[in-house]
Amino acid sequence: MNDNHAAYADALSERVAEVQAQRAALVAAIEETRVARSLTFADDEHDPDGSTASLDQVRDTALLQRTEQTLTELTEAQVRLASGGYGVCEVCGREISAERLLARPETRFCVPCLGRMGARHRGRSG
Ligand SMILES: [Zn+2]
Repeated sequence: MNDNHAAYADALSERVAEVQAQRAALVAAIEETRVARSLTFADDEHDPDGSTASLDQVRDTALLQRTEQTLTELTEAQVRLASGGYGVCEVCGREISAERLLARPETRFCVPCLGRMGARHRGRSG
């Protein structure tokens, strides 16, 4: 698995840059929405939260939280890559395929385990 070490390191730093750019865009969008709202409602202060802008803000804030979480996962993945244990599924302990790691370098689970988790979340019947 060390053959791909450099490729994983590259994939991780590329992904970090990508997610950091996303986070910056979201922070800017949230700030923009906040400013737009305060302008729109400047003369209507008794109705501070009845706007569509606040829905955008809720959505962007949720996205921002996800982005922060992905960044944390990426940082943890970089630590694992440096210290060993990177690319091993946390559920079944098998090696995760290089293809998947390069596509999603922060992943901690192999495809079959993720599939099982997804199935459990989606359809719990009886
Ligand atoms: Zn697994």
